[in-house]
Amino acid sequence: MATSSSDRDKLVLRFAPSPNGRLHLGHAFSALTNERIAARLGGRLLLRIEDIDVTRCRPEFEQAIHEDLAWLGLRFDDAVRRQSEHFDDYRAALDLLRGRGLVYPCFCSRQQIGRAVGAKEAETGGAWPRDPDGSPLYPGTCRKLSEAEAQARIAAGEPHVLRLAMDRALSEIGGEAVYQRFDEAGTECMVRAEPERWGDVVLARKDVPTSYHLSVVVDDALQGVTHVVRGRDLEAATDIHAVLQRLLGLASPRYHFHRLLQDETGQKLAKSRMSESLADLRVRGVTAAEIRERLGFP
Ligand code: GLU
Repeated sequence: MATSSSDRDKLVLRFAPSPNGRLHLGHAFSALTNERIAARLGGRLLLRIEDIDVTRCRPEFEQAIHEDLAWLGLRFDDAVRRQSEHFDDYRAALDLLRGRGLVYPCFCSRQQIGRAVGAKEAETGGAWPRDPDGSPLYPGTCRKLSEAEAQARIAAGEPHVLRLAMDRALSEIGGEAVYQRFDEAGTECMVRAEPERWGDVVLARKDVPTSYHLSVVVDDALQGVTHVVRGRDLEAATDIHAVLQRLLGLASPRYHFHRLLQDETGQKLAKSRMSESLADLRVRGVTAAEIRERLGFP
């Protein structure tokens, strides 16, 4: 991780929580790992609010993020970027991909995809491939639609997502998607991404004109992020990010995937599992210093 002093000014990290629930110890661990690596590298640490999911994100959760992080003693550089204020940036990226025929509209509901996958499995007698998150790969139903039919259905107001045509994307970049990975000991290595295991991923959702994958790649580039420090649960998704960076001509940051904290039952801490929040811990009288200590950041 050796860097010269002039490079140091340019190093940028970010912590990017979503305001769809209260932060728990897993978030604290991620934010503190970012802080530690930023300090070691002499880089700046930014805060980004990932609030594209307008149905699940709430202002009170966003307010709580600021309170919890300040309570932990975390300080961020520059202005906070709120993704919901930048849909135009994501649209511009999508238009670039669309103009090159790399994106297509998909009208399938979850149930229709399930039925199509069931039919494929019955036909082949084998299990249909699943992506690293365990969802069946999109079976490609809407790829076969003619441009005229797709346009007519859009004009009729039929809800649809926009998917990346992964095989076309990979052939455009010559099949080579790689990214640089680093660990806290300073070792770096090049990782060969395997984006084909994700199939035709969604780049714009029915309810939101972007997706996590698209907005995270656009924002990391626009914010000049050089080092992404995030949990191992996002390691596989980085394959998609590497492809999008190549397609959009964006610089690829270096990545570090930190371990995930688990509860007593060995499950990953998660908002959806109602893991104890930092605010709950605070109410119970736990101090920020105790949390830092407990997580290994004295
Ligand atoms: N917003 C994501 C989350 O809260 C983090 C995305 C990232 O670090 O790339 O899990």
